[in-house]
Amino acid sequence: MRVPMTVADFLERAELGFASDPGVVDEPDQPGAPVPESTYGRFAERVAVVGHNSARLLELLFAVPMSGRICVPVNFRLSPDEVAYVVEQSGASVLLVDAELDGALSRVKARHRFVLGEQTDNELMRFGVTPRPWSEPDEDATATINYTSGTTARPKGVQLTHRNIWVNALTFGLHTRLWERDVYLHTLPMFHCNGWGMPYAAAGLGVKQVVLRKVDGAEILRRVDRHGVTLMCGAPAVWKSVLDAAASWQGEIPGRDRVRLVCAGAPPPSALIQRVEEELGWEFTQIYGLTETSPLLTFNRTRPADAALPAEERARKLSRAGLPALGVRLRVSATGEVLARSNVVLDGYWDKPEETQAALEGGWFHTGDGGSIDADDGHLTISDRKKDVIITGGENVSSIEVEDVIFRHPGVAEVAVIGVPDDKWGETVKALVVPVEGAAVTEAEIIAHCKQRLAGYKAPTSVEFRDAIPRTATGKVQKFRLREPYWSGRERKVN
Ligand code: ATP
Repeated sequence: MRVPMTVADFLERAELGFASDPGVVDEPDQPGAPVPESTYGRFAERVAVVGHNSARLLELLFAVPMSGRICVPVNFRLSPDEVAYVVEQSGASVLLVDAELDGALSRVKARHRFVLGEQTDNELMRFGVTPRPWSEPDEDATATINYTSGTTARPKGVQLTHRNIWVNALTFGLHTRLWERDVYLHTLPMFHCNGWGMPYAAAGLGVKQVVLRKVDGAEILRRVDRHGVTLMCGAPAVWKSVLDAAASWQGEIPGRDRVRLVCAGAPPPSALIQRVEEELGWEFTQIYGLTETSPLLTFNRTRPADAALPAEERARKLSRAGLPALGVRLRVSATGEVLARSNVVLDGYWDKPEETQAALEGGWFHTGDGGSIDADDGHLTISDRKKDVIITGGENVSSIEVEDVIFRHPGVAEVAVIGVPDDKWGETVKALVVPVEGAAVTEAEIIAHCKQRLAGYKAPTSVEFRDAIPRTATGKVQKFRLREPYWSGRERKVN
């Protein structure tokens, strides 16, 4: 089914639909406090939205900021207590919740609660590109409060302004070479900044959008085939699931030489990039960024001069985070942290002035990622999150580098590398490995594989085999959770 919806329809809904409900619109945050004069005020009413990917959710992600309120998209995979934390911390007075999540989230309280009506997921959306005149929002006003994924700690509310969002949409469209003939498949959850940030670019250029509710490799292939999809964006775990599905796919892989895949959110192992190019024939672009940067900071895709390189070398070059996006300035601090300046950098963390000051110290945004910039070609390489770097015997080990090597072992389906306590070295490298089904891979084999390719101190001293590696809804590994059982009662040193 096609939803005949235009930008004008959106505005209509934003201005009339929401505004016609006086209980929602004109109430101040505190009973008795004056209603803010400008609906685009910095502290406009917060509207929390929690739902699975659907056309309806997409519509709300546009409609709420357009109506002058601040949208708080919430991760549907959070526990009821965690959702309650986000709703409460953001001070949202309105909660819009998917019918099917409503029961589980019944304990989450907000002054106004609306259950979203009929599900409209799995529908195609096509936005027109002829907006009617409307009052422009104040570019400096907060449009959304987007909670970080909680990979390293409790989520923080990232305030993004209207300017952050449209600058990100423009640069995203530019660097992914988006145009009106594109068909975008939503392989990211829309509550995540890349999930809803991308649709702004798509809507602005009249790109057709196909909603996907749940990430599933075979379903992605089917939709690519059925809808002529040309562009997708997702974490490495998404592309791994597509590769797994492609192994048993009957017939020609759909989208060969047509699909542009944008990999985001976590470092892609170079072996994965190589497999995407060889087994799927899809063009690979990597982007790097954070919720705090709307998110786009850098992008990397094969330059014409590199097209003829051997596949493995090309993949290694593509596994770097890449070049700064338009308008982004990057530098690496004396401590090795990547710092950024740009119009996509957050306004602040909601109600966290100290964290905001620390993150924006000296006028640069501190990413919390370690990295280096290649003096020859200006490409950024992320070495690791500062908190994930393993310090063993005074040497820094990048967990990403070790994972990249282990992932090249044919018996390894998934891997996460962490630091665990060690009486002699402070901490030592441990690999958690999900083996390929039926593969008889051993700990000794993985360690030997690493010792052949890495300096001795970087090789894991132990390997544990697991059935799965827990990930966030956006496919990120929560290493702090993996580390927890090993560190209970002990303090871990971080650079
Ligand atoms: P929290 O701040 O709660 O720990 P988070 O950092 O995972 O959550 P996000 O904003 O979703 O929140 O993720 C940003 C982080 O993801 C970056 O700081 C970086 O560590 C990682 N990341 C994103 N893209 C890439 C990439 N292309 N290569 C390497 N790392 C990446």
